[in-house]
Amino acid sequence: MSRLWSRKAAALVPYVPGEQPQDRRYIKLNTNENPYPPSPAVAAALQAFDPAALRLYPDPQSRGLRAALGKEHGVPAENVFVGNGSDEILAFAFQAFFEPSPAGGAVPPEAHVLFPDVTYSFYPVYAALYGIPYRTPPLADDFSVAVEDYLGPCAGVVLPNPNAPTGRALPLAGLARIAAGQPDRVLVVDEAYVDFGAETALPLAASRDNVLVVRTMSKARSLAGLRLGYAIGPRQLIEALERVRDSFNSYTVDRIAQTLAIAALSDPAWFERTRTEVMETRERTARRLRKLGFEVVPSDANFLFAKPPGMGGEALYEALKERGILVRYFRKPRIDGHVRITVGTPEEMDALCVEAARLLGAGG
Ligand code: PMP
Repeated sequence: MSRLWSRKAAALVPYVPGEQPQDRRYIKLNTNENPYPPSPAVAAALQAFDPAALRLYPDPQSRGLRAALGKEHGVPAENVFVGNGSDEILAFAFQAFFEPSPAGGAVPPEAHVLFPDVTYSFYPVYAALYGIPYRTPPLADDFSVAVEDYLGPCAGVVLPNPNAPTGRALPLAGLARIAAGQPDRVLVVDEAYVDFGAETALPLAASRDNVLVVRTMSKARSLAGLRLGYAIGPRQLIEALERVRDSFNSYTVDRIAQTLAIAALSDPAWFERTRTEVMETRERTARRLRKLGFEVVPSDANFLFAKPPGMGGEALYEALKERGILVRYFRKPRIDGHVRITVGTPEEMDALCVEAARLLGAGG
């Protein structure tokens, strides 16, 4: 803390991303990256990219990329917003759709944004950054979302589907009930992991005026390092995001990102093959971990949320790390017995299962 900091900077409790270790090579299963490289079309576009073009600012409207995303999802380009990773779009959404706490006095229920108690831990950080009050209805014991909790007075709803770090998905019918139950509030559906098996809420974003779907190319498109997220929704919601962005930074998506994202979209076969591979590896790994005595939450994402038998989540995380395998552990109530394991290649998951078996004394 410095005397030169604003009170706001001093009060922040920033989000802490999963480790990106530089000290040694790990089997890295801690930040839900894709184990496969992006499409060869991305490599070709990068090689063909003319560095001289970097002299110029990128298209602030990202027209080519929004048209390609619109074509991919069957919506007009004007219903697509792109950003520097979906984190940025989520941050814009908190500002575009939710109000800061009124000064003084108790905050009424209808002033709180709702998201689950166990969810993506960036949501409370954005809410705190912008002074937006929130409530966190608890997930059920099996980590499912109780739809009824999101039908009462509130300022809006943010739900990742599938949820993180649990991997559990809510069927579209549940999201439809929430959207219909909150006609004057925005429902933001964070579909970072939807390509690994959950139902998309895009039909709701197309038919209702209060649903925004947020997506990313970081996971199923293997482009976490490019920083490319997008949102699809009714024009009025997209316009609000544009107003926030254009009051912050005109050029959030750079020239290289726009070019390579278009290239990734041009290769649907690669997308299908790699996401299917990840889903198959996930199911095989889940079966193996269950055999070892783990409780494994059913997952529609590219990770497994698993509780080891007779050992805490932190102890398993530490022991695996020592053996060169990085998973994610959350020191939080309700989930500190679990670890979150990103689905890697079959070989990586094999190494994980062998080490886990050894640590649990269950043989090879
Ligand atoms: N939403 C969820 C639920 C996530 O887990 C992540 C990845 N940490 C993101 C959004 C952000 O992804 P990105 O900014 O890479 O698009």
